[in-house]
Amino acid sequence: MQKHTISTSDSLFQRAQELLPGGVNSPVRAFKAVGGHPIFMKSAKGAYLTDEDNNRYVDMINSWGPMILGHAPDFIEEAIREALPNSFSFGAPTRREVEMAELIIDMVPSVEKVRMVNSGTEATMSAIRVARGFTGRDKIIKFEGCYHGHGDSFLISAGSGAITLGVPDSPGVTKGVAQDTITVAFNDLEAVKTAVDLAKNQVAAIIIEPVVGNMGLVPPAEGFLQGLRDLCTKEGIVLIFDEVMTGFRLSRGGAQELFGVMPDMTTMGKIIGGGMPVGAYGGRREIMDFVAPAGPVYQAGTLSGNPIAMAAGLAMLRHLNENAATLYPELNRISDKMVNGMKANLQELGLNYTINQVGSMFSIFFTPQPVTDFTSAKTSDLTLFGKYFNSMLQKGIYLAPSQYETLFVSTAISDAVADEYLAANRAALAEIHHLNA
Ligand SMILES: *Cc1c(COP(=O)(O)O)cnc(C)c1O
Repeated sequence: MQKHTISTSDSLFQRAQELLPGGVNSPVRAFKAVGGHPIFMKSAKGAYLTDEDNNRYVDMINSWGPMILGHAPDFIEEAIREALPNSFSFGAPTRREVEMAELIIDMVPSVEKVRMVNSGTEATMSAIRVARGFTGRDKIIKFEGCYHGHGDSFLISAGSGAITLGVPDSPGVTKGVAQDTITVAFNDLEAVKTAVDLAKNQVAAIIIEPVVGNMGLVPPAEGFLQGLRDLCTKEGIVLIFDEVMTGFRLSRGGAQELFGVMPDMTTMGKIIGGGMPVGAYGGRREIMDFVAPAGPVYQAGTLSGNPIAMAAGLAMLRHLNENAATLYPELNRISDKMVNGMKANLQELGLNYTINQVGSMFSIFFTPQPVTDFTSAKTSDLTLFGKYFNSMLQKGIYLAPSQYETLFVSTAISDAVADEYLAANRAALAEIHHLNA
């Protein structure tokens, strides 16, 4: 296998480090968790990325989820081109925002009204404000290892013990904000009940990634989501599914459709913009009617519902909606093939690591232990992951540069590309363990 040279990327990164904090505009892009310098991308089409040195990679990140159809599908390009001559922003309502809302409400089972925003972070920050306004309560419960964007209330880590009153995870988050975030272990329903009891009538919302993608891939235990649903109904707590990652990916209607559990509110992002910066939050009509100007909870956005972003997002969602019956089964078939192939590689090489998968999201954890929450995810060997990542990169496979991320399969990954991935996986596993492939 030819070794990639990345001299152009290296020199761009050198310039970038002088100009941008850490040389990047979002931290995980910096490869800090795996060593080495980030690769600067130039273009992408279908399953492949091309970097500034003209190396080609199979893309297993797909922009951290949005590119579920692979890169730059012709019909999305066409939709953007068609929208362009009519100007790029009005700050006034447009037809596409109505069509987008109709489509989202049709696709996502629990959503009756929706507000468009520009990112997943905006969606989650706004959703908890609305939940607080609706309930008249201050506290929220989140789960250890779940990521809900960089809003202050979510940058809270748990200390030891199942239930911890939050301490800020990042300088700049005030103690006051942290006090209102209660952190509980994922998949631990008893701990949630205890937390709710300890903060009786003070909890506005429980926010959760119904399938976690942000500590590596961790599925919900049998009955966990339904248990949260029942608890929230009983206690008058707003249940928020953060489907920024899972929405329009695990099924047409996201994780809520897949598991048959309906939240009160849903946050969306990533796929919803077809690659453009779009987010949304929605939910039950009586809750969403608390949002200004219908209600008293203020939330606004100069570029929200931007016409070019709506054009891309609409093209994406229409395609997923119209092709759902064949598209999701095929995406899951290719994903199963990749996961089963990886499991076979591990077995043949005599290695014992954990692979978690739900549909087209999966992670390999370099630990023999089952991974069901953040504590078990943290038993992974991060040094080994770093070696694996770099070995895969050399073999032309672009993985997420952290153990605590999930991989995203796109419909552009054909059987032949999956085979290319599996051959690299086997060779990389053998290489980092000094085994014969
Ligand atoms: C990516 C992500 C976010 C944040 O979305 P941004 O568009 O990056 O602000 C929120 N929640 C989940 C579950 C995510 O995966």
